[in-house]
Amino acid sequence: MNGARKFHPLLLCSMLALVAGTVFPNQALCRVKARFEPRIPDIPGYVTLKCDFHTHTVFSDGRVWPDIRIEEAWRDGLDAIAISDHIEYTPHQDDVRRDHDRSVEIARPLAEKLGIILIKAVEITKQVPPGHFNALFLKNSAIVEHEDYLESIGRAVDQGAFIFWNHPPFRQKGNQSIWHPEHTRLLEKGWLHGIEVVNGRDYYPEAQQWCLEKGLTFLGTSDVHSLIDFDYDPHAQAGDFRPMTLVFAEEKTESALKEALFARRTAAFLEGNIYGESIYLRPIFETAVKLVNHQVTITGKGGAVVQVRNRSDIPFRLEADGEVAELNFPDSVTLVPGAIVQLGVSGKSVETEGRKTISLPYRALNLVPAPGKSQPVRFELDVTFKKP
Ligand SMILES: [Zn+2]
Ligand SMILES: [Zn+2]
Repeated sequence: MNGARKFHPLLLCSMLALVAGTVFPNQALCRVKARFEPRIPDIPGYVTLKCDFHTHTVFSDGRVWPDIRIEEAWRDGLDAIAISDHIEYTPHQDDVRRDHDRSVEIARPLAEKLGIILIKAVEITKQVPPGHFNALFLKNSAIVEHEDYLESIGRAVDQGAFIFWNHPPFRQKGNQSIWHPEHTRLLEKGWLHGIEVVNGRDYYPEAQQWCLEKGLTFLGTSDVHSLIDFDYDPHAQAGDFRPMTLVFAEEKTESALKEALFARRTAAFLEGNIYGESIYLRPIFETAVKLVNHQVTITGKGGAVVQVRNRSDIPFRLEADGEVAELNFPDSVTLVPGAIVQLGVSGKSVETEGRKTISLPYRALNLVPAPGKSQPVRFELDVTFKKP
């Protein structure tokens, strides 16, 4: 055992800060590396993995070294990322060796050190149609390179890859998402498994509709090229999280993640909105939101307060969905992340009497099960009515 006592780096840091504080007030000497995990709850039976399956590095047209993507993912509280450099577009190749497997190789040691699941991927980059596709869970990226899109995607599928269509409106007429015969061909071969419903700060309603109609997996990705904090900064602006795919997996492992992606257990997250199927949206709400008091007493037309706790970082925007015979309740309310909000209710009649179970009907506008739709949610109250 080493006899010399060493100062823990954090302790040393705070000692230096103390000294500096006396000499140079307000001058921070050290920055502590911190991971901020967005509070998005697990749902019954599954862990909710926060993932970004579309990122670039200098090995294609990105502007950062591969291990920076891992550092960012750790700071942003992600569980998994894919580094998905373009195969056909490598504008830095005069300065950075053209090697489709290299970016993931470089990032791997830090990913293992920090516990980030790193998925080996590429972006297959073809003219529209069919456009760009990410292939995840590759073993050999180099052999995916081929001028014919079917040959290229086929070589990825042969490795067990999960294939999704990126940013469907990209270079399409009028920036519309247009489904082409090439996409039907891929779908019929079983070579198209998902679509980006969210890319960067864009949401594509047509893509969501296709996920529902054609049985495809919902993806939400950043497609980041520069530093992620240039585009999103949850550290400076509350709630400004990077876009994510929420994956409902049996455990936090790459194989469980892969199983969940093929089984379509995902949702896309952007700016507090979640795009996905009701079977996942409802349990996210029910796990995140709890009533502090579900029992209230109302005397005549008098009022009472129901306190609602939101344990997540998702700002749920609720709008009343119908009326209740016995009670008035607010038309709209926002459940502030990490806070308890008051829901004021009042009686409608002096004649109501006795104990009743009352369900307050709302829709969560930020939970989107289909384009233009919002998720119904309920608060179950146990109300004792008394005559004045
Ligand atoms: Zn692309
Ligand atoms: Zn891309």
